[in-house]
Amino acid sequence: MDIEFSPALEAFRAEVCAFLETAPPDVREAGRKTTSVFAPFETVMAWQKILSEKGWAAPNWPVEYGGTGWSAEQKYIFNEEYARRRLPPLLPNGLKMVGPLLIELGSEEQKQKHLPGILNGDDYWTQGYSEPNAGSDLASLNCSAVRDGDHYIINGQKTWTTLAFKANRMFMLVRTSSEGKKQQGITFLLLDRVDYPGMEIRPIIGLDGKPEQCEVFFNDVRVPVSGRVGAENDGWSVAKSLLKHERGGLGDSAAMYARLELIRAAAQGTPSPFGGMMADDPTFHQAIGELEAEIASCAAYERMMVSGHPIAQDPAAPSITKVIGSELAQKVSTMMAKVSGVNALPVQSQALEVGSNTAMLTDDFDLIAMPYYLLSRATTIYAGSDEVQRDLIARSVLAQHR
Ligand SMILES: Cc1cc2nc3c(=O)[nH]c(=O)nc-3n(C[C@H](O)[C@H](O)[C@H](O)COP(=O)(O)OP(=O)(O)OC[C@H]3O[C@@H](n4cnc5c(N)ncnc54)[C@H](O)[C@@H]3O)c2cc1C
Repeated sequence: MDIEFSPALEAFRAEVCAFLETAPPDVREAGRKTTSVFAPFETVMAWQKILSEKGWAAPNWPVEYGGTGWSAEQKYIFNEEYARRRLPPLLPNGLKMVGPLLIELGSEEQKQKHLPGILNGDDYWTQGYSEPNAGSDLASLNCSAVRDGDHYIINGQKTWTTLAFKANRMFMLVRTSSEGKKQQGITFLLLDRVDYPGMEIRPIIGLDGKPEQCEVFFNDVRVPVSGRVGAENDGWSVAKSLLKHERGGLGDSAAMYARLELIRAAAQGTPSPFGGMMADDPTFHQAIGELEAEIASCAAYERMMVSGHPIAQDPAAPSITKVIGSELAQKVSTMMAKVSGVNALPVQSQALEVGSNTAMLTDDFDLIAMPYYLLSRATTIYAGSDEVQRDLIARSVLAQHR
């Protein structure tokens, strides 16, 4: 897709810039302090409310459900201006995962009940897929749901449920049958509360001292059958549909370009071990050039995905997007850590909090370099590990050339 910035598009850009400039200071701070796909929770959810009042929270949703109706070019411009200002990415679970899934497969009642809260940020959904013995091999999940009239009774455990302790909703996979292939006995459920009697959320404290992931335990938890998406025992196809949205939403070249600019600026003030500044070092030029080429290639791929290229219909496309996006995030974060050097080493957890009174030691580049580097290690694991995605890509390609 060639992007020509016509006068109409330039006028659109001006409108976007004018609005984004009104982002409150704490939102800007949250953006500067974002170290993973999960921006600081309270601030980003409040920002989502502001964006949704403007009608801009879900550019990719159909207009009838609250999308913007923007063209691919307009979305490109919005993403570019958003990333340029380092605004925090909206949290993905509602807007990029369960929302699109409900639009695609939910009943009318489920759409009416859940989409408004997903859009305006009143509700936050956590994802209950993984279990202690079901990660890559997700179909081995054991958390069971037994039908009892208008309810299912759930028993078992989920793990790695990101931000479950902040969520008020959960989508999950349960085992409703042990007959036949293991994929055939799975059901997809929406829970409209995470405080049902018998439900317990225990945070897992990460190496950064923060409880981002959780374990969730279910002990005879009664949930309404009306939360089921699709038919009983047909949850595997629903789950795969959601994973398509989850994996397909992971490439973000605009944010990567913005970080590349930060790296370039930081390198101007970082001494090179070979003398002079890092920005003047030929090996730095080579590394940054290679990174820029990779980001440009990711951007080209993203444009193919939004402009009707046949690859967007390939079953492997979400996996390709996931591998490209996750590895790129790791490379960019590695470069940030290298340029930050020893300045990245002090642990500055308190200064990382939005609204903190603790001053950062140098600047926000050094502040986020190490947490971003460390948290980016997870990008090739979550949403299905990259090894497994490569397997899916290979299988899809081999199937087409058999
Ligand atoms: C930060 C983070 C957030 C997460 N958030 C959530 C969440 O909100 N909700 C949720 O449900 N889950 C979540 N997860 C879990 C995530 O989906 C799983 O960690 C992931 O699917 C891998 O499963 P596993 O950890 O059990 O590893 P395993 O499946 O045990 O894999 C271990 C290693 O073996 C490799 N491997 C496994 N099978 C194969 C194969 N067939 N071929 C080649 N290699 C293979 C894997 O690539 C990996 O390197 C999160 C994980 C992380 C790290």
